[in-house]
Amino acid sequence: MTEKNQISFKRACVIGVGLIGSSLALALREQKLAAKISGVDRDADVLARAQKLGVIDGGETDIEQGVRGADLIILSTPVGAVGAICEALAHAAEDGAIIIDVGSVKGAVAQAATTLPDRLHFVPCHPVAGTEQSGPEAGFATLFKDRWCILTPLARSDAPYRAAVKSAEALWSAIGAEVEIMDAAHHDLALAVTSHLPHLIAFTLVGAADDVESVAHGEVIKYSAGGFRDFTRIAASDPVMWRDVFLNNRDAVLEVLGRFSEELAVMQRAIRWGDGKALEDAFARGRALRRAIVDAGQETPAPNFGRDRESGEPV
Ligand code: NAP
Repeated sequence: MTEKNQISFKRACVIGVGLIGSSLALALREQKLAAKISGVDRDADVLARAQKLGVIDGGETDIEQGVRGADLIILSTPVGAVGAICEALAHAAEDGAIIIDVGSVKGAVAQAATTLPDRLHFVPCHPVAGTEQSGPEAGFATLFKDRWCILTPLARSDAPYRAAVKSAEALWSAIGAEVEIMDAAHHDLALAVTSHLPHLIAFTLVGAADDVESVAHGEVIKYSAGGFRDFTRIAASDPVMWRDVFLNNRDAVLEVLGRFSEELAVMQRAIRWGDGKALEDAFARGRALRRAIVDAGQETPAPNFGRDRESGEPV
């Protein structure tokens, strides 16, 4: 890695060439941040497709072969795979390599990284950007533009590690993300509120609707524009990725789920007792929060999330 006006790497290796890994590879390529980009995936077909799409220059199913010569290693598999990958990197990665991940949970990832020797510099990262799609075909270079990327550096204060954290910050900034540094436990609680709980609710709601025997399946689909459809977009997210999020962020999710259940009971009571003021006040808070998200530039003000009603495509 050299640091002149901007960072650049000799060889980046993306482990897990799916939505996030391929988007990051495309963004690095677009900004000319890496001279070569290789991929590692357990599925040779994914590597072949990613190479054909121009995401990677070549790939390996074997991690030790794949990371040879890499000064930047990107872990973009589901979080549950990170422990075993770190064990392989502990002896296979080149001295001084910077390792970043993109996992949606940070405490468990930091724990998995404890097997790495100090000659390797692991900077846990979470780009708060994504879609419900998976695989290399879903990747695009602008995914991280104007989105937050949260870094939760390990408890290391040596100069090479501090330099690696600076490089990771520079990398995300160079591809258009806004960087924020925070503690892993704080990240996991905040994201349990803003991401993990909403996904859990969407998965549960869609599952429950599918189970309701009095409503024909055809009607659930036919009248889905009433609100249900927006939940199904979230519920279409990758099952393995989300399994690993809930297995690895158990305590924070259970904490916010407890609070949510209490709020839901309050709503249930307000409906039962006809307390219109309580309902209206709660819904007004929801509308105000949505407005704040739009004002912060994290969502489009256009109706229907800026998608065409017929085709569902962005307009
Ligand atoms: P994805 O599209 O399913 O890509 C994951 C890739 O990793 C797949 O190609 C998968 O292969 C591969 N893989 C799984 N285990 C592996 C292993 N042990 N070794 C090598 N490759 C392996 O998922 P994604 O959405 O990019 O998510 C990747 C990471 O990004 C997750 O940690 C997630 O928490 C994080 N993240 C996701 C989002 C989002 O919105 N999707 C947003 C921010 C962060 P197979 O296809 O064979 O399973």
